[in-house]
Amino acid sequence: MDFEIPENLKMMQETIRRFVKQDLEPISRKVEEEDNIPEEIVQKMRELGLFGLSIPDEYGGLGLGTFGECLVYEELTKTNACFRSRIGTSNGIGSMGILFDGTKEQKQKYLPRIASGQWTACFALSEPEAGSDAANIQTTAERDGDYFVLNGLKHFITNGDIADVATVIAATDKAKKARGGITAFVVEKNTPGFYAGTIERKMGLRGSHTSELIFDQCRVPVENVIGGEPKIGNGFKTAMGVLDKGRLTMGACALGAAQKLLELCIGYSKERVQFGKPIARFQSIQNMLADMATDIYGARQMLYHAAWTRDQGKKVIKEASMAKLFCTEMACRVADNAVQIFGGMGYMKDFPVERFYRDLRLYRIYEGTSEIQRMVIARELTKD
Ligand SMILES: Cc1cc2nc3c(=O)[nH]c(=O)nc-3n(C[C@H](O)[C@H](O)[C@H](O)COP(=O)(O)OP(=O)(O)OC[C@H]3O[C@@H](n4cnc5c(N)ncnc54)[C@H](O)[C@@H]3O)c2cc1C
Repeated sequence: MDFEIPENLKMMQETIRRFVKQDLEPISRKVEEEDNIPEEIVQKMRELGLFGLSIPDEYGGLGLGTFGECLVYEELTKTNACFRSRIGTSNGIGSMGILFDGTKEQKQKYLPRIASGQWTACFALSEPEAGSDAANIQTTAERDGDYFVLNGLKHFITNGDIADVATVIAATDKAKKARGGITAFVVEKNTPGFYAGTIERKMGLRGSHTSELIFDQCRVPVENVIGGEPKIGNGFKTAMGVLDKGRLTMGACALGAAQKLLELCIGYSKERVQFGKPIARFQSIQNMLADMATDIYGARQMLYHAAWTRDQGKKVIKEASMAKLFCTEMACRVADNAVQIFGGMGYMKDFPVERFYRDLRLYRIYEGTSEIQRMVIARELTKD
Protein backbone atom coordinates (compact mmCIF):
# COMPACT_ATOMS: atom_id res chain seq x y z
CA MET A 1 0.00 0.00 0.00
CA ASP A 2 1.29 3.41 -0.96
CA PHE A 3 -0.42 6.29 0.82
CA GLU A 4 1.79 8.99 -0.74
CA ILE A 5 -0.15 11.64 -2.67
CA PRO A 6 1.44 12.11 -6.14
CA GLU A 7 3.42 15.34 -6.69
CA ASN A 8 1.01 16.81 -9.28
CA LEU A 9 -1.92 16.39 -6.89
CA LYS A 10 0.06 17.91 -4.01
CA MET A 11 0.64 20.97 -6.20
CA MET A 12 -3.07 21.12 -7.03
CA GLN A 13 -3.90 20.91 -3.30
CA GLU A 14 -1.50 23.77 -2.61
CA THR A 15 -3.06 25.92 -5.36
CA ILE A 16 -6.55 25.39 -3.95
CA ARG A 17 -5.34 26.08 -0.40
CA ARG A 18 -3.95 29.44 -1.59
CA PHE A 19 -7.14 30.25 -3.50
CA VAL A 20 -9.25 29.49 -0.43
CA LYS A 21 -7.05 31.60 1.85
CA GLN A 22 -6.50 34.59 -0.45
CA ASP A 23 -9.75 34.82 -2.43
CA LEU A 24 -12.58 32.78 -0.93
CA GLU A 25 -12.27 33.00 2.84
CA PRO A 26 -12.18 36.84 2.90
CA ILE A 27 -15.52 37.08 1.07
CA SER A 28 -17.23 34.05 2.60
CA ARG A 29 -19.33 36.14 4.99
CA LYS A 30 -20.37 38.64 2.32
CA VAL A 31 -21.42 35.78 0.05
CA GLU A 32 -23.43 34.30 2.91
CA GLU A 33 -25.19 37.60 3.55
CA GLU A 34 -25.85 38.42 -0.11
CA ASP A 35 -26.62 34.83 -1.18
CA ASN A 36 -24.49 35.39 -4.26
CA ILE A 37 -20.95 34.62 -5.47
CA PRO A 38 -19.34 37.64 -7.21
CA GLU A 39 -18.60 37.16 -10.91
CA GLU A 40 -14.88 37.92 -10.48
CA ILE A 41 -14.59 34.89 -8.18
CA VAL A 42 -16.36 32.70 -10.75
CA GLN A 43 -13.89 34.01 -13.33
CA LYS A 44 -10.96 33.01 -11.10
CA MET A 45 -12.50 29.55 -10.77
CA ARG A 46 -12.59 29.33 -14.58
CA GLU A 47 -8.94 30.37 -14.79
CA LEU A 48 -7.95 27.66 -12.30
CA GLY A 49 -9.77 25.06 -14.38
CA LEU A 50 -12.16 24.27 -11.54
CA PHE A 51 -15.15 23.70 -13.81
CA GLY A 52 -13.42 20.85 -15.60
CA LEU A 53 -11.71 18.91 -12.83
CA SER A 54 -12.97 15.53 -13.95
CA ILE A 55 -13.49 16.23 -17.64
CA PRO A 56 -10.70 14.62 -19.75
CA ASP A 57 -8.03 16.96 -21.15
CA GLU A 58 -9.07 16.17 -24.73
CA TYR A 59 -12.22 18.22 -23.94
CA GLY A 60 -10.31 20.97 -22.16
CA GLY A 61 -10.65 19.68 -18.61
CA LEU A 62 -7.95 18.86 -16.06
CA GLY A 63 -8.66 15.14 -16.41
CA LEU A 64 -8.29 14.38 -12.71
CA GLY A 65 -9.31 10.96 -11.45
CA THR A 66 -11.78 10.54 -8.61
CA PHE A 67 -9.01 10.68 -6.01
CA GLY A 68 -7.66 13.97 -7.43
CA GLU A 69 -11.14 15.47 -7.55
CA CYS A 70 -11.74 14.41 -3.95
CA LEU A 71 -8.51 16.15 -2.86
CA VAL A 72 -9.59 19.38 -4.55
CA TYR A 73 -13.04 19.26 -2.94
CA GLU A 74 -11.54 18.50 0.44
CA GLU A 75 -9.57 21.76 0.27
CA LEU A 76 -12.38 23.80 -1.26
CA THR A 77 -14.91 22.86 1.40
CA LYS A 78 -12.74 24.23 4.19
CA THR A 79 -14.47 27.51 3.41
CA ASN A 80 -18.10 28.34 2.55
CA ALA A 81 -19.68 25.28 0.89
CA CYS A 82 -21.37 27.36 -1.80
CA PHE A 83 -18.09 27.77 -3.72
CA ARG A 84 -17.85 24.01 -4.24
CA SER A 85 -21.50 23.91 -5.13
CA ARG A 86 -20.96 26.50 -7.88
CA ILE A 87 -18.56 24.15 -9.69
CA GLY A 88 -19.98 20.86 -8.40
CA THR A 89 -22.78 20.35 -10.91
CA SER A 90 -20.51 21.13 -13.87
CA ASN A 91 -17.86 18.66 -12.71
CA GLY A 92 -20.25 16.02 -11.50
CA ILE A 93 -23.94 15.37 -11.96
CA GLY A 94 -24.43 17.91 -14.77
CA SER A 95 -21.69 16.66 -17.10
CA MET A 96 -20.93 13.06 -16.17
CA GLY A 97 -23.97 11.63 -17.99
CA ILE A 98 -22.64 13.16 -21.21
CA LEU A 99 -19.11 11.92 -20.48
CA PHE A 100 -20.15 8.37 -19.55
CA ASP A 101 -22.93 7.74 -22.07
CA GLY A 102 -22.98 10.64 -24.56
CA THR A 103 -22.31 10.36 -28.30
CA LYS A 104 -19.03 11.62 -29.75
CA GLU A 105 -20.84 14.71 -31.07
CA GLN A 106 -22.45 15.45 -27.70
CA LYS A 107 -19.10 15.18 -25.91
CA GLN A 108 -17.45 17.46 -28.45
CA LYS A 109 -20.24 20.01 -28.32
CA TYR A 110 -20.86 20.25 -24.59
CA LEU A 111 -17.84 19.12 -22.57
CA PRO A 112 -15.36 21.85 -23.70
CA ARG A 113 -17.91 24.58 -22.89
CA ILE A 114 -18.62 23.06 -19.48
CA ALA A 115 -14.94 22.40 -18.68
CA SER A 116 -13.98 26.01 -19.44
CA GLY A 117 -16.77 27.30 -17.22
CA GLN A 118 -18.28 29.16 -20.18
CA TRP A 119 -21.43 27.08 -19.61
CA THR A 120 -22.74 25.89 -16.26
CA ALA A 121 -24.35 22.46 -16.23
CA CYS A 122 -27.02 21.11 -13.88
CA PHE A 123 -28.74 17.78 -13.30
CA ALA A 124 -32.52 17.52 -13.15
CA LEU A 125 -33.85 14.28 -11.69
CA SER A 126 -35.77 15.11 -8.48
CA GLU A 127 -39.47 15.96 -8.57
CA PRO A 128 -42.14 16.53 -5.93
CA GLU A 129 -43.25 12.87 -6.24
CA ALA A 130 -39.82 11.40 -6.95
CA GLY A 131 -37.00 11.97 -4.49
CA SER A 132 -35.45 8.80 -3.08
CA ASP A 133 -37.86 6.87 -5.32
CA ALA A 134 -36.24 8.39 -8.41
CA ALA A 135 -37.85 5.92 -10.82
CA ASN A 136 -41.25 7.42 -9.99
CA ILE A 137 -40.62 10.56 -12.09
CA GLN A 138 -43.72 12.10 -13.63
CA THR A 139 -41.99 14.34 -16.19
CA THR A 140 -42.80 12.83 -19.56
CA ALA A 141 -41.01 12.91 -22.91
CA GLU A 142 -43.30 11.93 -25.77
CA ARG A 143 -41.90 11.15 -29.19
CA ASP A 144 -43.08 13.37 -32.02
CA GLY A 145 -41.12 12.57 -35.18
CA ASP A 146 -37.54 13.77 -34.78
CA TYR A 147 -38.37 15.40 -31.42
CA PHE A 148 -39.37 14.52 -27.89
CA VAL A 149 -41.88 16.80 -26.17
CA LEU A 150 -41.07 17.26 -22.48
CA ASN A 151 -43.69 18.19 -19.86
CA GLY A 152 -43.26 18.30 -16.11
CA LEU A 153 -41.74 19.93 -13.08
CA LYS A 154 -38.34 19.30 -11.49
CA HIS A 155 -37.51 20.74 -8.08
CA PHE A 156 -34.49 21.30 -5.80
CA ILE A 157 -32.16 21.63 -8.80
CA THR A 158 -28.74 23.00 -7.79
CA ASN A 159 -27.66 25.84 -10.12
CA GLY A 160 -30.95 25.36 -12.00
CA ASP A 161 -31.49 29.12 -12.27
CA ILE A 162 -28.07 29.82 -13.79
CA ALA A 163 -27.45 26.67 -15.82
CA ASP A 164 -26.85 26.94 -19.56
CA VAL A 165 -27.38 23.24 -20.08
CA ALA A 166 -29.20 20.57 -18.10
CA THR A 167 -29.09 16.79 -17.99
CA VAL A 168 -32.79 16.01 -17.70
CA ILE A 169 -34.23 12.65 -16.73
CA ALA A 170 -37.74 12.02 -18.09
CA ALA A 171 -40.15 9.11 -18.56
CA THR A 172 -40.46 7.93 -22.16
CA ASP A 173 -42.54 4.89 -21.15
CA LYS A 174 -44.19 5.22 -17.74
CA ALA A 175 -45.19 1.55 -17.54
CA LYS A 176 -41.60 0.36 -17.90
CA LYS A 177 -40.21 2.85 -15.36
CA ALA A 178 -36.51 2.15 -14.55
CA ARG A 179 -36.51 -0.94 -16.78
CA GLY A 180 -36.27 0.82 -20.11
CA GLY A 181 -38.87 3.55 -19.58
CA ILE A 182 -36.63 6.44 -18.54
CA THR A 183 -34.42 8.53 -20.84
CA ALA A 184 -31.71 11.15 -20.23
CA PHE A 185 -31.69 14.32 -22.37
CA VAL A 186 -29.39 17.30 -22.77
CA VAL A 187 -31.54 20.42 -22.77
CA GLU A 188 -30.07 23.83 -23.50
CA LYS A 189 -31.16 27.07 -21.87
CA ASN A 190 -33.44 29.11 -24.14
CA THR A 191 -35.07 26.00 -25.57
CA PRO A 192 -38.71 27.14 -25.89
CA GLY A 193 -40.85 25.69 -23.09
CA PHE A 194 -37.90 25.23 -20.70
CA TYR A 195 -37.42 27.69 -17.88
CA ALA A 196 -36.41 28.01 -14.24
CA GLY A 197 -39.20 28.47 -11.67
CA THR A 198 -39.06 29.41 -8.01
CA ILE A 199 -35.69 29.64 -6.27
CA GLU A 200 -36.10 27.65 -3.04
CA ARG A 201 -35.39 29.21 0.38
CA LYS A 202 -33.03 26.89 2.23
CA MET A 203 -31.66 26.23 5.73
CA GLY A 204 -28.10 26.80 4.51
CA LEU A 205 -25.81 26.72 1.50
CA ARG A 206 -26.45 30.38 0.88
CA GLY A 207 -24.65 31.60 -2.22
CA SER A 208 -25.72 28.46 -4.06
CA HIS A 209 -29.18 28.53 -5.63
CA THR A 210 -31.57 25.64 -5.89
CA SER A 211 -34.57 26.06 -8.14
CA GLU A 212 -37.47 24.47 -9.94
CA LEU A 213 -37.17 23.67 -13.62
CA ILE A 214 -40.32 23.71 -15.69
CA PHE A 215 -40.94 21.88 -18.98
CA ASP A 216 -44.02 23.03 -20.85
CA GLN A 217 -44.36 21.47 -24.30
CA CYS A 218 -40.58 21.71 -24.55
CA ARG A 219 -39.40 20.24 -27.87
CA VAL A 220 -36.01 18.56 -27.70
CA PRO A 221 -34.46 16.95 -30.81
CA VAL A 222 -33.87 13.18 -30.71
CA GLU A 223 -30.15 13.88 -31.18
CA ASN A 224 -30.21 15.36 -27.63
CA VAL A 225 -30.99 11.98 -26.07
CA ILE A 226 -27.79 11.23 -24.15
CA GLY A 227 -26.13 8.52 -26.21
CA GLY A 228 -28.56 9.09 -29.12
CA GLU A 229 -31.31 6.80 -30.43
CA PRO A 230 -29.78 3.52 -29.09
CA LYS A 231 -29.85 4.90 -25.53
CA ILE A 232 -33.57 5.73 -25.46
CA GLY A 233 -34.84 4.03 -22.30
CA ASN A 234 -31.37 3.88 -20.75
CA GLY A 235 -31.71 7.08 -18.71
CA PHE A 236 -32.13 5.52 -15.28
CA LYS A 237 -28.83 3.69 -15.71
CA THR A 238 -27.18 6.93 -16.83
CA ALA A 239 -28.55 8.77 -13.78
CA MET A 240 -27.43 6.08 -11.35
CA GLY A 241 -23.93 5.99 -12.89
CA VAL A 242 -23.65 9.73 -12.37
CA LEU A 243 -24.81 9.52 -8.75
CA ASP A 244 -22.47 6.63 -8.03
CA LYS A 245 -19.41 8.77 -8.66
CA GLY A 246 -20.95 11.75 -6.86
CA ARG A 247 -21.11 9.77 -3.63
CA LEU A 248 -17.34 9.83 -3.29
CA THR A 249 -16.96 13.54 -4.05
CA MET A 250 -19.77 14.30 -1.60
CA GLY A 251 -17.81 12.39 1.05
CA ALA A 252 -14.79 14.57 0.28
CA CYS A 253 -16.84 17.74 0.80
CA ALA A 254 -17.94 16.53 4.23
CA LEU A 255 -14.38 15.56 5.09
CA GLY A 256 -12.92 18.98 4.21
CA ALA A 257 -15.51 20.80 6.31
CA ALA A 258 -14.94 18.44 9.26
CA GLN A 259 -11.18 18.98 9.09
CA LYS A 260 -11.66 22.75 9.11
CA LEU A 261 -14.00 22.53 12.10
CA LEU A 262 -11.45 20.47 14.02
CA GLU A 263 -8.75 23.08 13.32
CA LEU A 264 -11.07 25.89 14.46
CA CYS A 265 -11.92 23.96 17.63
CA ILE A 266 -8.29 23.25 18.51
CA GLY A 267 -7.45 26.96 18.10
CA TYR A 268 -10.47 28.18 20.08
CA SER A 269 -10.11 25.68 22.91
CA LYS A 270 -6.49 26.74 23.46
CA GLU A 271 -7.47 30.42 23.62
CA ARG A 272 -10.76 30.39 25.50
CA VAL A 273 -10.11 30.62 29.23
CA GLN A 274 -12.63 29.51 31.86
CA PHE A 275 -11.97 28.67 35.51
CA GLY A 276 -8.52 30.18 35.02
CA LYS A 277 -7.32 27.83 32.27
CA PRO A 278 -7.82 27.23 28.57
CA ILE A 279 -10.84 24.98 28.00
CA ALA A 280 -8.51 22.62 26.04
CA ARG A 281 -7.20 21.53 29.44
CA PHE A 282 -10.61 20.12 30.46
CA GLN A 283 -10.99 16.42 29.84
CA SER A 284 -14.51 16.69 28.36
CA ILE A 285 -13.23 19.11 25.71
CA GLN A 286 -10.20 16.88 25.05
CA ASN A 287 -12.52 13.90 24.60
CA MET A 288 -14.55 15.78 22.02
CA LEU A 289 -11.39 16.82 20.13
CA ALA A 290 -10.10 13.25 20.24
CA ASP A 291 -13.41 11.85 18.94
CA MET A 292 -13.50 14.42 16.13
CA ALA A 293 -9.93 13.67 15.06
CA THR A 294 -10.50 9.90 15.19
CA ASP A 295 -13.69 10.19 13.13
CA ILE A 296 -11.90 12.31 10.53
CA TYR A 297 -8.94 9.95 10.35
CA GLY A 298 -11.21 6.95 9.74
CA ALA A 299 -13.31 8.80 7.17
CA ARG A 300 -10.24 9.94 5.24
CA GLN A 301 -8.80 6.42 4.95
CA MET A 302 -12.13 5.06 3.78
CA LEU A 303 -12.70 7.80 1.23
CA TYR A 304 -9.19 7.79 -0.22
CA HIS A 305 -9.21 4.02 -0.54
CA ALA A 306 -12.60 3.94 -2.28
CA ALA A 307 -11.63 6.79 -4.64
CA TRP A 308 -8.29 5.18 -5.43
CA THR A 309 -9.99 1.81 -6.06
CA ARG A 310 -12.40 3.47 -8.47
CA ASP A 311 -9.46 5.03 -10.30
CA GLN A 312 -8.08 1.48 -10.78
CA GLY A 313 -11.20 0.80 -12.85
CA LYS A 314 -12.85 -1.36 -10.20
CA LYS A 315 -16.51 -1.22 -9.17
CA VAL A 316 -17.07 0.61 -5.89
CA ILE A 317 -20.87 0.66 -5.55
CA LYS A 318 -20.84 -0.52 -1.94
CA GLU A 319 -17.66 1.36 -1.00
CA ALA A 320 -18.90 4.65 -2.51
CA SER A 321 -22.13 4.41 -0.52
CA MET A 322 -20.19 3.53 2.63
CA ALA A 323 -17.87 6.51 2.12
CA LYS A 324 -20.76 8.91 1.52
CA LEU A 325 -22.67 7.58 4.51
CA PHE A 326 -19.72 7.56 6.89
CA CYS A 327 -18.14 10.88 5.86
CA THR A 328 -21.39 12.87 5.89
CA GLU A 329 -22.65 11.44 9.21
CA MET A 330 -19.18 11.86 10.67
CA ALA A 331 -19.06 15.53 9.62
CA CYS A 332 -22.40 16.20 11.31
CA ARG A 333 -21.10 14.63 14.55
CA VAL A 334 -18.00 16.83 14.26
CA ALA A 335 -20.13 19.94 13.63
CA ASP A 336 -22.28 19.17 16.64
CA ASN A 337 -19.20 18.87 18.86
CA ALA A 338 -17.78 22.05 17.32
CA VAL A 339 -20.87 24.05 18.35
CA GLN A 340 -20.50 22.57 21.83
CA ILE A 341 -16.82 23.48 22.13
CA PHE A 342 -17.51 27.05 20.99
CA GLY A 343 -20.36 27.27 23.52
CA GLY A 344 -22.59 30.32 22.96
CA MET A 345 -20.19 31.57 20.29
CA GLY A 346 -20.90 28.40 18.32
CA TYR A 347 -24.50 29.53 18.03
CA MET A 348 -23.65 33.02 16.79
CA LYS A 349 -23.38 34.09 13.19
CA ASP A 350 -20.12 35.92 13.98
CA PHE A 351 -18.28 32.57 13.84
CA PRO A 352 -18.28 30.16 10.90
CA VAL A 353 -19.13 27.14 13.08
CA GLU A 354 -22.83 27.96 12.94
CA ARG A 355 -22.72 28.08 9.11
CA PHE A 356 -20.86 24.77 8.83
CA TYR A 357 -23.41 23.17 11.16
CA ARG A 358 -26.30 24.19 8.86
CA ASP A 359 -24.51 23.54 5.57
CA LEU A 360 -23.29 20.08 6.55
CA ARG A 361 -26.80 18.88 7.32
CA LEU A 362 -27.55 18.86 3.61
CA TYR A 363 -24.89 16.28 2.78
CA ARG A 364 -26.90 13.55 4.54
CA ILE A 365 -29.86 14.31 2.27
CA TYR A 366 -28.87 15.04 -1.31
CA GLU A 367 -27.32 12.74 -3.88
CA GLY A 368 -28.96 9.89 -1.95
CA THR A 369 -30.00 10.14 1.71
CA SER A 370 -28.20 8.18 4.44
CA GLU A 371 -31.10 5.72 4.45
CA ILE A 372 -30.72 5.11 0.72
CA GLN A 373 -26.95 4.59 1.13
CA ARG A 374 -27.68 1.94 3.79
CA MET A 375 -30.13 0.28 1.39
CA VAL A 376 -27.47 0.18 -1.36
CA ILE A 377 -24.84 -1.25 1.03
CA ALA A 378 -27.23 -3.91 2.35
CA ARG A 379 -28.35 -4.81 -1.17
CA GLU A 380 -24.74 -5.32 -2.23
CA LEU A 381 -24.03 -7.37 0.90
CA THR A 382 -26.98 -9.71 0.46
CA LYS A 383 -27.22 -10.14 -3.31
CA ASP A 384 -26.62 -13.61 -4.76
C1 LIG B 1 -30.22 21.84 -1.46
C2 LIG B 1 -30.62 20.68 -2.32
C3 LIG B 1 -30.05 20.55 -3.58
C4 LIG B 1 -30.44 19.49 -4.41
N1 LIG B 1 -29.91 19.42 -5.68
C5 LIG B 1 -30.42 18.50 -6.55
C6 LIG B 1 -30.04 18.51 -7.93
O1 LIG B 1 -29.17 19.29 -8.36
N2 LIG B 1 -30.64 17.64 -8.77
C7 LIG B 1 -31.58 16.74 -8.35
O2 LIG B 1 -32.09 15.99 -9.18
N3 LIG B 1 -31.96 16.70 -7.05
C8 LIG B 1 -31.41 17.56 -6.14
N4 LIG B 1 -31.81 17.55 -4.83
C9 LIG B 1 -32.81 16.58 -4.40
C10 LIG B 1 -32.26 15.51 -3.48
O3 LIG B 1 -31.47 14.60 -4.21
C11 LIG B 1 -33.45 14.86 -2.76
O4 LIG B 1 -33.92 15.82 -1.82
C12 LIG B 1 -33.08 13.57 -2.06
O5 LIG B 1 -32.80 12.56 -3.00
C13 LIG B 1 -34.19 13.07 -1.13
O6 LIG B 1 -35.42 13.09 -1.76
P1 LIG B 1 -36.67 13.81 -1.05
O7 LIG B 1 -36.24 15.15 -0.63
O8 LIG B 1 -37.86 13.72 -1.95
O9 LIG B 1 -36.93 12.95 0.25
P2 LIG B 1 -37.80 11.62 0.36
O10 LIG B 1 -37.37 10.66 -0.70
O11 LIG B 1 -39.24 11.97 0.44
O12 LIG B 1 -37.31 11.04 1.74
C14 LIG B 1 -37.87 11.45 3.00
C15 LIG B 1 -37.28 10.53 4.07
O13 LIG B 1 -37.68 9.17 3.82
C16 LIG B 1 -36.54 8.35 3.73
N5 LIG B 1 -36.79 7.27 2.77
C17 LIG B 1 -37.29 7.38 1.50
N6 LIG B 1 -37.35 6.17 0.93
C18 LIG B 1 -36.89 5.27 1.84
C19 LIG B 1 -36.69 3.87 1.85
N7 LIG B 1 -36.99 3.10 0.80
N8 LIG B 1 -36.20 3.29 2.97
C20 LIG B 1 -35.88 4.04 4.06
N9 LIG B 1 -36.04 5.38 4.11
C21 LIG B 1 -36.53 5.99 3.01
C22 LIG B 1 -35.42 9.26 3.27
O14 LIG B 1 -34.15 8.73 3.55
C23 LIG B 1 -35.75 10.52 4.07
O15 LIG B 1 -35.27 10.36 5.36
C24 LIG B 1 -31.38 18.55 -3.96
C25 LIG B 1 -31.92 18.67 -2.68
C26 LIG B 1 -31.55 19.71 -1.86
C27 LIG B 1 -32.16 19.80 -0.48
